[in-house]
Order: sequence, then C-alpha cells, then structure tokens
Amino acid sequence: MTEKIDIKSLNEAELCEIIVELGIPKFRAKQIWLQLFQKLKTDFAEMSDIPKSLLPTLNEHFEIRTPQVLEKLVSRLDGTEKYLFRLYDGSIIESVLMRYEHGNSVCVSTQVGCRQGCAFCASTKNGFVRSLSAGEILGQIESITREHMGEEGFRVDNIVLMGIGEPLDNYDNVLKFLHLVNDKNGLNIGYRHISLSTCGLVPEIKRLARENLPITLSISLHAPNDEIRSATMPINRRYNIDELIEACREYQAVTGRRISFEYALIDGVNDSVEHARELAKRLKGLLCHVNLIPVNPIKEKNFKKTTKNNLILFTNSLNNSKINATVRRRLGADIDAACGQLRNKRMQEASQNN
Ligand code: SAH
Repeated sequence: MTEKIDIKSLNEAELCEIIVELGIPKFRAKQIWLQLFQKLKTDFAEMSDIPKSLLPTLNEHFEIRTPQVLEKLVSRLDGTEKYLFRLYDGSIIESVLMRYEHGNSVCVSTQVGCRQGCAFCASTKNGFVRSLSAGEILGQIESITREHMGEEGFRVDNIVLMGIGEPLDNYDNVLKFLHLVNDKNGLNIGYRHISLSTCGLVPEIKRLARENLPITLSISLHAPNDEIRSATMPINRRYNIDELIEACREYQAVTGRRISFEYALIDGVNDSVEHARELAKRLKGLLCHVNLIPVNPIKEKNFKKTTKNNLILFTNSLNNSKINATVRRRLGADIDAACGQLRNKRMQEASQNN
C-alpha cells in the first residue's frame, strides 16, 4: 500500500490539485484547508462543512499527522511550558511555549536529533534520526494552540526555530513551513515575528538571503576565533568564522535585516574580556545584536557556566566597543526548558527500563 499523504505539509495549491484529481469539487480544498489550519481540526469527521460521504476518500488518501502531547511541564517560576511530543512514527521531539509581556513565543524543533555535534548541546547526544516535515514543524504550534483553546484571545505571536535540530540542514521543509505558517488563511504569523537559528551552514545562509523573507537570522557563534569554535562546534571545521561572518555580511546586504548572534559563555573557555574584544573586532561594521547566555550545563559534559562577574565584564566590553549585547533572560529553569534536555532524560530512563 502506498503511504498516505501528509496533508498538513501541502500548501493550498497542492491540496487543491490533489482534491481535484480525487474527483472532489475544488471548493472543498479551501474548506478543508481552513478547517486544518484555522480551526485546527485533527480529524476529517470533525470538519462541520465536509459531507460524511467524502470521509472514506479523504481518509483513504490523506493522513492528518498531529504531534501528540506525551508530557507537558509548566514552570512555576514564569509559566514557560515545555512539551514532549510523540510523532506518527514514535519519534519524540520537544517544543517550548514562552510567555512574554509582548506575546507568546513558541520554540519549535526541526529535526529528530541533530547531526551537528556541538559539544555543549543536549540535542545532539542521541544522534540523528530524521528531519521533520513542514506539517510536523507547524503541528507543534497547532498542538500548543489547541492546548490553550479555552484561554480567551490566546495566540502564538512569535516563532523561534531554536528547538532540536539544525533548520538549515532541513532546508526545503523549513522553507515550506515558513510559507505555511505565514499564510493569511492559516496561522498568519508575520515573517518579522520569526527567528531562525543556525550553527552556521554557509551555503544555506546565502541561499536563505535570496528567499526574500524578512525573518530574523540568528547565528550560534559561541566563540571569537577558529581555535575555540572548532573545538566546540564541528561545523566550524567545514566553514570557518571568516566565511561565516562573510555570509552574514552578505545576508545583511541582501535583506537589510539585523543579524542576531548567540553566544553561550562557558567558564574558562570563551568568557574572558580578551575574547570579548576579539569578538567585537570580528563583528565590526555589521548591524547585529549579541545575545549572551551563561551556558546551561548538560549532564554529558562538564562545561561550567561563566561567573556573574565575567558575564558583566564581557557584556560591558562588547557594549564599549559599540556592539549591542544583552544577557538573555533564562526561562523555565525548573523544567529542563533548554532544548534537548528533557528528551534526553526520558530516552535515558526508557533505555534503563529496557
Ligand atoms: N541548530 C541550530 C538551532 C538550535 S538553536 C543552532 O545551532 O542554532 C538552540 C540554541 O541553543 C543554539 O544557539 C545553541 O547553540 C544553543 N545551545 C545549545 N546548547 C546550549 C547550552 N548547553 N547552553 C546554552 N545554549 C545552548
């Protein structure tokens, strides 16, 4: 039997084409689309305007793949919600809902596991399983929205692609997701409210620059020079810092958008004032913002957080060099909200029980 079509990975035109091929009137495509992406229905039978007579055909050809909530943790400190989702094939991913005064942000995963191997990152520790489809990335936002159906006026305002996986290693599906989530007849989330974070896949950064999407590009830099970066981030051995910053300058020139840099401060590794000066020199002339994050220690590595004092010195040094830098507020500290941590914990528990 051929696999059913993952309907939520289709755009409206693709859905329309298949609907017509199946001998169903064209206008039904729009109705189904609205039920899926606006009413967030997870079953054709729940779609009030779809006649029962069409259900056998729809169910025979399509599958509405919905991430199932396996676990939901709510931070008592700040209301951050961490979700562990099970996908149709049993894979497990994580997503996070962060509640800010300026709106709700959802952090989505783009792959099951990750192949980038950054030394400090929990997402990479259990290897790589597969990339997510566009519908599975979108499904995380929809499932979280459904969890809040009873909450008047709830909506997801911002999206960050900063969960498990490397978005640019899943380029086509991520692009499709960006178009789907922006669709006026769907979730209608503006590109300016979306941030995509990458460890630095240079050719894909250049390709993304030409997609004409005003999203925010966030670069996980984490080091001021090649020696430190190559020791913690294997991608740097493929594309070094000069090439990466050059790609960022190109991105900036093409899109006019400010670039964000993520920099996790690890005690004794990349957190001295000399490192800050080196970093400032590299970023000179680039319209950017640096997000500083004391590294989250993970169980598998003995990286330690920078000290409070070094954090202040580092931030001041960047600001004195006219590099805009702020310390990222840490949300959900009591619920393993940082990416990949909860999935790892549960996978380890599962393997111990077997
Ligand atoms: N693969 C993409 C998307 C992951 S985003 C990327 O690398 O950008 C997750 C962000 O959290 C990245 O900036 C990543 O480098 C950072 N991160 C991973 N582990 C961390 C840790 N232990 N402490 C602080 N930040 C971490």
